[in-house]
Amino acid sequence: MSRKITGATVVAGVAGAPVRHSLSPIIHNAWIEAAEIDAVYVPFAPCGDDFRRFAEGLRGGVIRGLNVTVPFKEAALSVADEVSQRAELAGAANLLVFDEDGRIIADNVDGLGLLAAFTAQVPDFDPKAGPVAIIGAGGAARGAAAAFVAAGAPEVRVINRTLAKAEIVAGALGDGVRAYSLNGAALAFEEVTAVINATSAGLANEQLDLPLEATPAAAIVMDMTYKPLDTPFLQRARALQRRTVDGLEMLIGQAAPSFEAFFGRVPSPTVDVRGLCIEALGAKA
Ligand code: NDP
Repeated sequence: MSRKITGATVVAGVAGAPVRHSLSPIIHNAWIEAAEIDAVYVPFAPCGDDFRRFAEGLRGGVIRGLNVTVPFKEAALSVADEVSQRAELAGAANLLVFDEDGRIIADNVDGLGLLAAFTAQVPDFDPKAGPVAIIGAGGAARGAAAAFVAAGAPEVRVINRTLAKAEIVAGALGDGVRAYSLNGAALAFEEVTAVINATSAGLANEQLDLPLEATPAAAIVMDMTYKPLDTPFLQRARALQRRTVDGLEMLIGQAAPSFEAFFGRVPSPTVDVRGLCIEALGAKA
């Protein structure tokens, strides 16, 4: 990359632990280059995992903004001076903007990314058409449930290993959200239009053994995990002739509104950021 850093270069970045293998710098720097903006997007690994100390140090003109990933999304919400409704509903923030008055504004655009992934990979999917099942009850699942409620899904079924956590999510998001245990998954899959794996099982190389055959044949199966891109969960869904949506498309889908928040520009649709990410993952397109 031959881009010059100047006295006016705007800095944005991503904070996580680990952050080393984040694809966000690849995505944002490709868009920055295409837009010829004087900016750079860098990874941050907060010292001692102390996100509050790290974020406080960035107030007032150090950087324009930050994407936040595991395990700091809840901490990111708690350091903010202003919180968007969707971040509040998700109980987590993945986007912080640092304004000129030293304030931190938190948002959560993971839900937008999720819906954008469905639009990109199954354009005929209609979130209003029927119930949706989400597996997991962490920040990602809660954000996804909030996004589907906002998009008009008639019912969202949150299925979790620890039922009590699913009940907390359902309680926070209102009447249209119901909690199920993993044992209740077959019941929760009845008549759904989509099933979304929002657990971290894949990260730990653990398999989710759920009765996907209980979903209707037209149901879409999505996995938020994108390492590997083609997860065992998606492979099982395809073996059952279900159409699928992958987690990389969601990552790109949340990066776009983040880029707009940092730089006030819509990213160029002509840059093949998906191809760049697939190359970095060493995966097949
Ligand atoms: P959390 O740690 O907050 O939640 C993890 C969830 O996974 C919990 O509900 C936990 O259940 C469940 N879980 C973990 N292991 C298993 C298992 N073996 N079997 C069943 N359930 C399990 O994580 P997040 O919500 O922050 O993230 C979840 C996943 O989504 C991660 O893999 C993350 O990388 C991915 N993600 C992807 C994004 C994208 O853009 N593609 C964006 C955001 C997240 P329990 O409550 O019982 O512990």
